[in-house]
Amino acid sequence: MLQLFDTAKGAVAPFEPREPGKVSMYVCGPTVYGPPHLGHGRFSLVFDVLRRYLTWAGNDVTYVSNITDIDDKIIQRAQAEDRDWREITRRCEAVWYRAMDALDVRRPDHDPHATAYVEQMVALIGRLVDRGAAYETSDGVYFHSEAVDDYGLLARQPLDSLKAGARVEGIDEKRSPVDFALWKKAKPGEPHWPSPWGDGRPGWHTECVVMSLDLLGDDFDLHGGGQDLAFPHHENERAQALADGRRFARTWVHNGFVEVEGTKMSKSLGNVSNLVDLVEQYDPRAYRLLVLRSHYRSPIDVTDDSLRDAEAALDRLDAFARRATSVEGVAAASPDPDALGQFRAAMDDDLQTPTATGLLFDLVRRANVALDAGDAAAAGPLAAGVFEIAGALGLALRTEAASVPDEVVAWAAERDAARAGKDWARADALRDQITAAGYVVEDTPAGAVVRPT
Ligand SMILES: [Zn+2]
Repeated sequence: MLQLFDTAKGAVAPFEPREPGKVSMYVCGPTVYGPPHLGHGRFSLVFDVLRRYLTWAGNDVTYVSNITDIDDKIIQRAQAEDRDWREITRRCEAVWYRAMDALDVRRPDHDPHATAYVEQMVALIGRLVDRGAAYETSDGVYFHSEAVDDYGLLARQPLDSLKAGARVEGIDEKRSPVDFALWKKAKPGEPHWPSPWGDGRPGWHTECVVMSLDLLGDDFDLHGGGQDLAFPHHENERAQALADGRRFARTWVHNGFVEVEGTKMSKSLGNVSNLVDLVEQYDPRAYRLLVLRSHYRSPIDVTDDSLRDAEAALDRLDAFARRATSVEGVAAASPDPDALGQFRAAMDDDLQTPTATGLLFDLVRRANVALDAGDAAAAGPLAAGVFEIAGALGLALRTEAASVPDEVVAWAAERDAARAGKDWARADALRDQITAAGYVVEDTPAGAVVRPT
């Protein structure tokens, strides 16, 4: 059974879905006002791996991740650039999905947009005001943090210490420094929607409450995001749902920070200042492998070296995939059951992906040894294990060599014929010719395989 670290419990605990075999997940998505950064890439990959693993393990997973398409930062950018805010959100959303597609992050089953849920948010805020959990001020409507007994659960801090540590922000009409805005009254020129408290827009913390409960229902299974969302964002989502008499997420999962060259996201990595640059300048799978090689709750340091190292490891995986698929009988084997058992045990242990990826490369090594010995029967189940596990982790292996010109393929065939006729001088000359053209030729039991260097 899968065990996950639940932030609300502060401990690793069995993950028990509301309905066995069905998993409902909500992961807070991006605010679309600029290009995604490396931290966005990490949470997307972490929860994509969890989703894929749960699916692989036989669950029917419903994955919801929202698009925040109205927010102070969007309005600020629109005003600074004198552009329509909707043009910014549309373009940034397209950029977001291009980066996600490059990373092979599966698209959500639902990607609700905040602007499509304003009416439902207004209704929720109205109920919270009626119940005395929220109050109107001159600039909006605020949630009163003391309306929920265990406010501070996800912050892992009692309300008193949160109050003491809170920055005193905004207006002094707030009843407590921890209280947060549910509705912001519009200033002239800002986008706005109607409400009983005047035209305005929702605060960021309300949209996920309404969207998750609408699409997944009360008591949904898992709510996730980066560690920086646990407090205040998730704390505030949970407080609103509870104050509205709803049952919210059963399990809370948060992933660790991303550092770039040892500093907290402040420095750029060579020419990489965001996720779009990264997927253009490196094999996008390298970031997935980097994420898999660390435990999801640990910080990761993204460096040029670590990405290049991941690319080299992927080359080894791809080369193995090509070799294994070229040997008759190997590709059709069933995965080694021990290997799958070990994979499952690692993943069920709070997603120990470093162990799982270690297992993957160990299987490659063992299968290569068997192939070197010409033992296709032993290599088959190990190779099939590699394909199965890589697939479950979302690592697409490239079995097709990048296209090789017909001329080079013809040289390789001619070289095979020369070798068969024991014309070694001719075979060597053809190999040199192939190498000079930028390709390598590998001899396998099924004949020569040519690929770009
Ligand atoms: Zn959220």
